[in-house]
Amino acid sequence: MKIVLIGIQGAGKSTQGNLLSKNLEVPYLSTGHIFRELAKEKTKLGRYVKEVMNAGYLIPGKKTLAIVTEYLKRPEYKGGYIMDGFPRTLAQAEFFKDGADKVIYLKVSDGEALKRLSFRNGEGREDENPKAVAKRIESFHKFTEPVLDYYQKKGILIEVDGEKTIEQIHSEILRKINGDQ
Ligand code: AMP
Repeated sequence: MKIVLIGIQGAGKSTQGNLLSKNLEVPYLSTGHIFRELAKEKTKLGRYVKEVMNAGYLIPGKKTLAIVTEYLKRPEYKGGYIMDGFPRTLAQAEFFKDGADKVIYLKVSDGEALKRLSFRNGEGREDENPKAVAKRIESFHKFTEPVLDYYQKKGILIEVDGEKTIEQIHSEILRKINGDQ
């Protein structure tokens, strides 16, 4: 099963993604994680990615597409994946054509996400500075909300209230994936 997780930063995508991965025995993949690893490299690309990430911007252009395509060629993703962080723009969604069987939107208000992130602050993620977080929330509304519409029209969008407990959200996702509304 090919599952895509969408939500603003702080919505709980990686928590739910990892739970789903265990439960469904499908590997979890996060483009944010890939980029954070890339940002550690002392190369031109590494320094560039770090700068863009820390400012809270999306990595522009074809770079993301090339990286995702490359990863998904690996044998472990043949049987499906839980994808966190991609697609985030309409262009990426159109490129990803048959990449998603189900898309889960973890709906959390901007205020709740900011509250969660302020608790998380200081746990070491350099790209979670307040300015970058505000920028990311802004780009979610501008670039990623159209992706929700795109999947809604395709009939594969599942909306979940991301403000419940971790366990409640997890079981709601499982129920909805199985088609029991
Ligand atoms: P995340 O951990 O998903 O919040 O991603 C962290 C950062 O990685 C984002 O703020 C972007 O700079 C970059 N990134 C992750 N996924 C994408 C994507 N699909 N398109 C462009 N940039 C991305």
